[in-house]
Amino acid sequence: MQNINHWIDGKFDAQASERVGDVFNPATGERASTVALASESTVDVAVASAKAALPAWRDSSLAKRTRILFAMRELVEKRKGDLAAILTREHGKVTADALGEVSRGLEVIEFACGIAHLLKGSLSENVSSDVDSYSMRQPLGVVAGITPFNFPAMVPMWMFPLAIACGNTFVLKPSEKDPSAANFLAELLHEAGLPPGVFNVVHGDKVAVDRLLEHPDVRAVSFVGSTPIARYIYETGTKHGKRVQALGGAKNHMVVLPDADMDLAADAVVGAAYGSAGERCMAISVLVTVGDAAEALLPKIIERVAKLRIGAGSEAGMDMGPLISGPHRDKVRAYVDAGVSEGAKLLCDGRTLSVPGHAGGYFLGPCLFDHVTPKMAIYRDEIFGPVLSTVRVATYDEAIALIDANPYANGVALFTNDGGVARKFQHEIQVGMVGVNVPIPVPMSYYSFGGWKASLFGDAHIYGPEGIQFYTRGKVVTSRWPDPRHRGVDLGFPQNR
Ligand code: NAD
Repeated sequence: MQNINHWIDGKFDAQASERVGDVFNPATGERASTVALASESTVDVAVASAKAALPAWRDSSLAKRTRILFAMRELVEKRKGDLAAILTREHGKVTADALGEVSRGLEVIEFACGIAHLLKGSLSENVSSDVDSYSMRQPLGVVAGITPFNFPAMVPMWMFPLAIACGNTFVLKPSEKDPSAANFLAELLHEAGLPPGVFNVVHGDKVAVDRLLEHPDVRAVSFVGSTPIARYIYETGTKHGKRVQALGGAKNHMVVLPDADMDLAADAVVGAAYGSAGERCMAISVLVTVGDAAEALLPKIIERVAKLRIGAGSEAGMDMGPLISGPHRDKVRAYVDAGVSEGAKLLCDGRTLSVPGHAGGYFLGPCLFDHVTPKMAIYRDEIFGPVLSTVRVATYDEAIALIDANPYANGVALFTNDGGVARKFQHEIQVGMVGVNVPIPVPMSYYSFGGWKASLFGDAHIYGPEGIQFYTRGKVVTSRWPDPRHRGVDLGFPQNR
């Protein structure tokens, strides 16, 4: 059985790990490989490699960095099918969805190809007589990324392209549930000409994460995962003096007003609730129907859910694959049981699904609830599965109050044909990413991605302009090339003349 090992200093670690974890094929439930689980000393070796590579990489020209990023862009484009196949094999998502994940990650590499422009500082001439002042942004040093299972290629690509483009060196700790995509990306970066040590992958669990959080040579940590761990990463990392951005979980609402195009809204919510089996941080998990919108909308959703094709992600024509693991599937199913016992009305029951030939796979069909209330566990918690809860409210104001009372604030969507209401909504809603007639409003790579409240800890959103800010620090130079007439001692506070 293949063991997935660390990538350190431009090659796979030759040592066998003392501890390993199992990696499963979620479509069959079979153990497919093992993954090394790093000890503290392995993390130290990876950080030392990144530290040793730093001086030369930090001083490399923007032209050199840009060329490597362009080469990486070409390699990911060329090998996207192979990368998508890895995602399907270990995560379970269907091929089209896996290709979508790769393309959204690729967009961040494309943004990073413009690093020469993005790192430009500013200059003010003659701030005082013979004095110029100028600013620049410089890399932080060794930075770490810790990523979740649900986007094993895209989320690392939210981080490392900008981190290394800015002149940092990087240590990635991907999810131990689907670790192969990280190694594939490491090999492509190597092929693109990235010097050894600039990008390293350590596989592992809490042991590896904790060592990165306390390591004195790690300057910053980017984290994406669930809210309790995001909070822990933020608190522990900042306690150790690091700059931290920690993106957490979500409970994304989609509000449908009675004037909305109901076919558009039904198509959108089915895609956003059940795509990737609901295992997306931007998945819609709460449908908020205003007034009588539910009467028109729910039958259209039920009709579409009935037509979804659920099976192994590698099979042609599938819409939805399995969940990531047996325990997670059981947890999601338990939420559905709880919803029923708490009195919500289950309109589509995915618990009855069986996928022929895949009895051991971690499948659960799409579940749709109506008459959900904010007190129920299916409303309160992030379920992270194919479960959509409908909350009926009487007015637009009630919908806003519901969303603003929720502790999560990652994404939100409004479906309406009223431009005035849409404008009011985008202005007043307390959520970081807003869609108007768009269900999964993931910002383009040249904006930044991030939620508010319990969906993000730290000051910086990820990738885009805020990514550049996060991975650099500012320096301002005040420079004088004096005219000899201006010499002489002056103990007064410098004034601009
Ligand atoms: P997770 O929090 O369990 O794991 C994320 C990472 O943290 C993994 O690398 C894991 O090994 C590590 N980790 C787990 N437990 C740890 C612990 N006790 N101490 C230290 N490290 C630990 O998340 P997941 O289940 O892999 O991913 C799903 C979650 O990620 C969902 O909550 C989802 O909403 C969230 N997510 C958020 C975004 C976003 O942009 N806000 C994007 C993708 C996923």
